[in-house]
Amino acid sequence: MRKEKTAFIEDEILIREGLFVFPRDESDTPRLIGSQCKKCGEVVFPKRNLCVMCDADEVMEEVFIGEHGTLHTYTVVRIGYEGFDVPYVLGVVELSDGKDVHVLSQIEDCDPEDLHLGMRLALTIGKIKKDVATGKDIIGYKYRPIRQ
Ligand SMILES: [Zn+2]
Repeated sequence: MRKEKTAFIEDEILIREGLFVFPRDESDTPRLIGSQCKKCGEVVFPKRNLCVMCDADEVMEEVFIGEHGTLHTYTVVRIGYEGFDVPYVLGVVELSDGKDVHVLSQIEDCDPEDLHLGMRLALTIGKIKKDVATGKDIIGYKYRPIRQ
């Protein structure tokens, strides 16, 4: 079973607890933390206690998902909130876990001209924005194109 990393570099802030796990080592990949209903099989992200499909309570178990996905749709953000480096690509990623789960995510390491719907993406962990008050990087999950 994976453990959530609890110690971080001093100049980084985690965007929110309980969203993802870091790779265990260099050969590993990060994963998102979702929930799967033991009754109907529905998978959701972020994790929650109540099943949105069958309304069952206390049947959700934690699952690690989102290693890969495909680009469902995207936009280029040119005017951002304070702390964001613009322009950046914001996309909806359809996870490849075969469970119809979509997540909103920054798409990094790409030229918007090279993006196309359905392209394969891999989960990565990195800077989402800068915390304006402290100047520290806020770390979260993002996706990047898989290049052959
Ligand atoms: Zn359910």
